[in-house]
Amino acid sequence: MPFVPFARPDIGEAEIDAVARALRSGWVTTGPETRAFEQEFAAYLGSGVQAVAVNSATAGLHLALEAIGIGPGDEVIAPTLTFTATVEVARYLGADAKLVDVDPVTLNIDPARIEAAITPATRAILPVHYGGLACDMAAIFDIARRHGLRVVEDAAHALPATFQGATVGQLASAAAVFSFYANKTMTTGEGGMVVTQDEQLAARMRVMRLHGISRDAFDRFTSKTPAWYYEIVAPGFKYNLTDLAAALGRVQLQRLPAFVQRRRQLAARYLHALKDLPLILPADAPAGDTHAWHLFVLRLSDDATVTRDEVIQALSDAGIATSVHYVPLHRQPYWRDRYGLTPEQFPVAEAAYQRMFSVPLFTAMSDGEQARVIAALKDIVR
Ligand SMILES: *Cc1c(COP(=O)(O)O)cnc(C)c1O
Repeated sequence: MPFVPFARPDIGEAEIDAVARALRSGWVTTGPETRAFEQEFAAYLGSGVQAVAVNSATAGLHLALEAIGIGPGDEVIAPTLTFTATVEVARYLGADAKLVDVDPVTLNIDPARIEAAITPATRAILPVHYGGLACDMAAIFDIARRHGLRVVEDAAHALPATFQGATVGQLASAAAVFSFYANKTMTTGEGGMVVTQDEQLAARMRVMRLHGISRDAFDRFTSKTPAWYYEIVAPGFKYNLTDLAAALGRVQLQRLPAFVQRRRQLAARYLHALKDLPLILPADAPAGDTHAWHLFVLRLSDDATVTRDEVIQALSDAGIATSVHYVPLHRQPYWRDRYGLTPEQFPVAEAAYQRMFSVPLFTAMSDGEQARVIAALKDIVR
């Protein structure tokens, strides 16, 4: 039986043609394709949005925190159940992360825990839309307003997701950051997009994205000022996206509505087929809202007689890949030791971690592949 991978990028001839065209154009780094990709991405999210293309979401998170002025001595609040990229960028800037527990139903950051973690050093909240389900942004914005904090959304899983009918990327946060890593809901190989509705933040991020140069290379080669002239206004980074990646991203963005459809279909089938097993199924979005279904995270319920590790091994023996999202950050040596964290401080994330596993859900997954995953789960989870 062929192996069912955890994810497989959905790249067709249109993407291959677009990248080939970019290659033949002779312009391979940031240029017209990236410009167009940014404009199309911003338009997709809605009016008033500015999009800044970057070579990873990690870079985007770094740029966003830098642009809102995070620096040494500052603290940012983030969930423990996330990828390290969410908070490592705070350390790049000399700031620290306050990790907090998650909600037992959604596994998103728990607003009550945010409130309890605020200190005089707190500057920002970094919600992560876990698995593609939007956080309780109303509660988070309320806390941010009352305490004078900025909000930067780690929206790596959330393309596209909505909260109370509004699209993630168009909410009241300072910035939201999307990822185009290979297994995300669309891909550019590696890449990301920071979006903001704040002109000044967008301008700062554009400058810091490319060495602190006050105009990007495309402007340099097309505007009226001499091509050789530029100004360095800060010690910036090298975070720009290539036109090769942007050409790929533009086609993926066009296909996104179909991708969403397919992910929703696969999620609905899992939810229906697995409902009688001793499993806690992932929470769906509230009626009227969109879940991006980047991940399909299952948890063994109390009455299950197998362990999480046994399930993962048995699925692997059946030729099915799984993953765990995530080993909580409070268990990772760097974060654990820096802040003296213990599992007891994060009872919800800890309990979830012990019994969680993610099963394959990707647009290129065939109905037959999903049927095999379902049949294996019915066989193994008891
Ligand atoms: C994938 C991911 C990132 C990082 O994205 P890159 O584009 O690989 O830098 C950040 N946060 C979360 C929650 C992710 O899943």
